[in-house]
Amino acid sequence: MTGYDAVVVGSGPNGLTAAVALARAGRSVLVVEAAEAIGGGLRTEELTETGYLHDVCAAVFPLVAASPYLRTLGLERHGLRLVHPPAPLAHPLDDGGAAMLERSVAATAETLGLAGAAYRRIVAPLVRDAGPLFPEILRPPVRAPRHPLVLGRFAAGGLGPATLLGRRMPGDRAGGLIAGLAASRFLKASSERRYGSSGSNGDPGRQSHPLTMQPGGSAYEPPLGSGAVRGG
Ligand SMILES: Cc1cc2nc3c(=O)[nH]c(=O)nc-3n(C[C@H](O)[C@H](O)[C@H](O)COP(=O)(O)OP(=O)(O)OC[C@H]3O[C@@H](n4cnc5c(N)ncnc54)[C@H](O)[C@@H]3O)c2cc1C
Repeated sequence: MTGYDAVVVGSGPNGLTAAVALARAGRSVLVVEAAEAIGGGLRTEELTETGYLHDVCAAVFPLVAASPYLRTLGLERHGLRLVHPPAPLAHPLDDGGAAMLERSVAATAETLGLAGAAYRRIVAPLVRDAGPLFPEILRPPVRAPRHPLVLGRFAAGGLGPATLLGRRMPGDRAGGLIAGLAASRFLKASSERRYGSSGSNGDPGRQSHPLTMQPGGSAYEPPLGSGAVRGG
């Protein structure tokens, strides 16, 4: 491996992006990968039947669309096409309805009933500030922020446990939305609050939702009668 300016261990999205940045800076780079296929958590494989392609880990890529650096790579020239569904995600509820993340703050707020106003208040400033915000949060924190107010506003709502956010947006629909999104993070949700309508196992304290938020314990409880929440 001698003779290279840099050796990148792992060909996941972060390793490949670092390798591209180094190569663009004129450095010679070797990427080493232990697995049989490149791509890390973003690779696609035939996991079941021949011809059926599965996402091994990641399947939803909002930060690919938002990343200022990835936009400079012109990946669409190499065949990348991001598919934007009419509604980015939904969290099914026991009453047959669903908490929906629609494509606008106003449309999502409409579906959240009483929590709609709080949703607008919390999310609308983030959407407004998306331009300066994403470069701030997607770069290494090695220098002072260029937009401290924007970053501070994001941190005020975004760094606490998901249950704090849940308390600011009451109701099963907002709770389901927050729980589903929080389930993809590796942080404790830290609360006794449970999301869902009536329990399906006869215990009114237990809900049939796949995610419950536990006080100080592990973030997630196993599914109770429905599929696991996942996301990215
Ligand atoms: C189940 C699941 C679902 C997810 N869903 C989403 C999603 O929907 N959207 C989203 O944005 N993110 C999602 N993520 C997160 C996303 O997959 C990761 O953030 C992303 O893959 C991290 O990229 P990375 O390059 O840091 O590491 P990885 O993608 O993990 O790549 C690391 C690579 O390094 C290789 N490697 C490790 N050690 C060595 C070694 N010693 N020598 C050589 N090679 C080595 C590994 O084989 C691997 O290929 C999900 C993750 C999981 C686990």
